[in-house]
Amino acid sequence: MKKAALLLTVLVLFACAKTEQPAADTAATRSSDKLEIKADVPSRLAKLPKTVIDYDHSLLNAEEQQVVAKLIEASKEIDEIYWMQVSEENLALRDRLAKQAASGPLDQAGNDYFVANKGKWDRLAKDEAFIAPFDKKPEGAAFYPKDMKKEELEKFVADHPDQKAAIEGLFTVIRRDASSNALTAIPYSVYYKEHLDKCAAKLREAAALTTNASLKDYLTKLADAFGRDNYRDSDIAWMDLQGPIEAVIGPYEVYEDEMFNYKASFESFITVVDKPESDKLTAYAQHLPAMEMNLPEPDEYKNKNRGTDSPIRVVQEIFTAGDARRGVQTSAFNLPNDEVVREQKGSKKVLLKNVMDAKYRMSGAPIAQRLLDPSQLPLLSFDAYFNHVLFHELSHGVGPGLIPNPANKAERVDTRTLLKNLYSAIEECKADVLGQWNMLYARDHKLLTSFDEKQQWVTYAGLMFRSMRFGIDEAHGRGTAVQWNWMREKGAIVPAANGTFSVDFTKARPALQSLATELLTIEATGDFARGEAFLNKYGVSNAEIDNTIKGLPENIPVDITPVFAAAGEK
Ligand code: ZN
Repeated sequence: MKKAALLLTVLVLFACAKTEQPAADTAATRSSDKLEIKADVPSRLAKLPKTVIDYDHSLLNAEEQQVVAKLIEASKEIDEIYWMQVSEENLALRDRLAKQAASGPLDQAGNDYFVANKGKWDRLAKDEAFIAPFDKKPEGAAFYPKDMKKEELEKFVADHPDQKAAIEGLFTVIRRDASSNALTAIPYSVYYKEHLDKCAAKLREAAALTTNASLKDYLTKLADAFGRDNYRDSDIAWMDLQGPIEAVIGPYEVYEDEMFNYKASFESFITVVDKPESDKLTAYAQHLPAMEMNLPEPDEYKNKNRGTDSPIRVVQEIFTAGDARRGVQTSAFNLPNDEVVREQKGSKKVLLKNVMDAKYRMSGAPIAQRLLDPSQLPLLSFDAYFNHVLFHELSHGVGPGLIPNPANKAERVDTRTLLKNLYSAIEECKADVLGQWNMLYARDHKLLTSFDEKQQWVTYAGLMFRSMRFGIDEAHGRGTAVQWNWMREKGAIVPAANGTFSVDFTKARPALQSLATELLTIEATGDFARGEAFLNKYGVSNAEIDNTIKGLPENIPVDITPVFAAAGEK
């Protein structure tokens, strides 16, 4: 009965479409073949300007460059899969927009913004459609049938417990069975077979070219993984990578599946290790126990047996694809996500230095130049900014972790579980603040010499609005609001002429120290009430912050759209 009704609806719709057909012959509707693009797309596009990303070619020899060329070809297949993961209509739409692009500036902008967003939904504007029809983005992207509701999948899993693992699995696509209309799980290895086979072939060619044993091992295991939907062996091999080429390809993050966060999106990062920066990093890491002892907190809070944390690599990005190349670009990532591998091998944090540099030039510095007192502007320093990001990551590895359980002092408990939903904002804020604190330590001990303390403070203050502009409702933005409000209250940052601000260098260090002590105390005691009161007071916006953000010129980019020189892109 239901089927008959559906069939009828389809016939009626089809009939309607049919009756409209003759009109297509007139000149007026021939132009309606063109996809309508929202008029403000050129200004949206200006928020993600194309920016050339290149790497220091002297870091790779001839053989390694050949390997990289193969990895770029492999990554292009990954890109195609991700386009399909976002929307089943994406590839057809992409062809139409590419043809239409030559028709005029709006069409060109529509095409470019579509490519930058990997789809017609604006990732900077809550997924609003900017190309007709202006329908909402399906919550589960194309991982599930377009018309499937959350409840349908939940009910199906409850009714078919034997299929739960497959339906909820990271590496399956959910579709309807053609005959029964029931939900069915199709493995990625089957659904994306065409592109995965091509990608695997390129990876094997790259593996044959390289004389680096660890890279050969990783690429071979990765090519095998595509056919088996099991990335555990390749993840382990990735953790063991040695040498200048640092590449990771596979289905990892689950954010594109906003319905359930079950399904992993394909992505690729092809990068080269930045040797000089990585050597410096090794030196800082050796000082972590001394930095722990130097934290401004009572001795009883000091964490003397924090294990060696995950390794950090500083790299230069050569090429990215898929989930790694859409909307706002990644400047650092931490993989793998597989808890079994993490337990066995830990995880690796990778910082993309040339991407950070591009973001700083295009977005961070222009904001700072607008907001800082002109007399302090010459003190802005990319090095101070980059090292803050780096020391932020290092500083996640110091400070309280397991603490005495307030309910039973004999027991130890992770501060994360006591601080619950406050933890992310507190921990991100802590990493920022201790990042600055540990930079002071590193400079005092001559480990950092490329900028002075004044440059450090001015850069710190000037860049805060870059993250607050993304929003204060998220952990990083909220953590930044805390720092801004605290530094303002303590007089370390003061208003200057024309809506600008300046740093009071005599007050910056003590203000930072008292903030560090407060954050460390909250984490060391796991005091939820204290943490909540603190965030409610400092982790919020106010008229000054709102007006400052509103006062930023619209034409300051939010982020960049990468143009990869190594792939011959223009
Ligand atoms: Zn962090």
